[in-house]
Amino acid sequence: MKDDLKTRSSLETWDRSTRLVHAGAEANETSAITVPIYQSSTFVFDSAEHGADLCQAVHPSHLYTRWGNPTTQALELALADVEGAEAALAFSSGMAAGVTAVMPMVKSGDHIVAANCLYAGMTELFERVLPPLGVETTFVDPAEDGAFERALSPQTVLIYVETPANPTLAITDLEAVAELARSRGVFTLADNTWASPWNVRPLELGIDAVIHSATKYLGGHSDVIAGAAAGSREWIDRVWPYLKIFGGCPSPHDAWLLHRGIKTLGLRVERQNASALELARFLSSHPRVLKTHYPGLPDHPGHDVARRQMRGFGGMLAFEVESLDAGRALLEALRLVTHAVSLGGVETLAVHPASTTHAPLTPEERRRADVSDGLIRVSVGLEAADDLIADFEQALATG
Ligand code: PLP
Repeated sequence: MKDDLKTRSSLETWDRSTRLVHAGAEANETSAITVPIYQSSTFVFDSAEHGADLCQAVHPSHLYTRWGNPTTQALELALADVEGAEAALAFSSGMAAGVTAVMPMVKSGDHIVAANCLYAGMTELFERVLPPLGVETTFVDPAEDGAFERALSPQTVLIYVETPANPTLAITDLEAVAELARSRGVFTLADNTWASPWNVRPLELGIDAVIHSATKYLGGHSDVIAGAAAGSREWIDRVWPYLKIFGGCPSPHDAWLLHRGIKTLGLRVERQNASALELARFLSSHPRVLKTHYPGLPDHPGHDVARRQMRGFGGMLAFEVESLDAGRALLEALRLVTHAVSLGGVETLAVHPASTTHAPLTPEERRRADVSDGLIRVSVGLEAADDLIADFEQALATG
């Protein structure tokens, strides 16, 4: 292998698209062009002393796969590089990453400030799991002026945000949140799943650490459940013992799939950014569409912040038709676009939250979660934008 790839000495100067292809190669101990899948739970000690040393090490890659694994190590180097972080950890799911990243930050008596529009699993962590352990969370509207500052207390140790938000694509000003938190000695953690690090790099905006559902844009092909966390080396060393104890490590095969997905992140997301913008423009001018939520549209409330902090406006959008029945009928009328949860893959997916994910809620609870009865959420894939627009056009005409 070329020395530059082995030592990462050129990574610093290469464009981000080049780095996506090569980051992690330095962990490849073989001449295979891709890092092999080390499908092994355990690794052989050279000697008694070697075994004793490894058992004392932080995050060794050749001891036991829950502690670390050579395939996972290569992935983690790529994850750190894509987020511009000193270090990263890979997990078996986005939820494993989220829970494992939050737990070392809190103890009984501490307080968290979180955005009110998080992925439901993280909201449940803050609302149901942490209060019995003595950790309370205040939820705020991240788009409201001064909301984070008003919610801070002397006990606040963590601000947790996710941007763009589900399902209204509300934008949080990451730089402002980071500055406020730093001035109060509060740690900031951002879920960067929806934007993807191709579009937003929260650490460059002052956020302390990020997590991901790598199931989505990082993996990119709807074929793996995985998670990631990235930040300073010191923070990662603080989180790793919790990964070891909670046990949410990825399988070596999933780590390999995720590493492969990352290589094409830039290409995929550039295309998704462009197609989502075209589709959002089409939908916003359609007479049956009451409202289109996309930060790339100038009338979106977060448009100016998004222009400042995002390289592209992302592949997620939402729009509203007149009623619950109309939303359901529209989904059934789509022919190319697939009706399924999740996001960030190569195929365009749409969901009608009011009749699926949010169906158990009352209409009033749905309104509070910003889910109107006719809201449709779309994850734009890699199909031709014209084909996607044609599919929504015929569904809006017939559905
Ligand atoms: N964060 C966000 C923004 C998500 O959309 C999801 C899943 O949809 C998660 C976290 C949880 O990730 P996973 O399903 O990989 O556990």
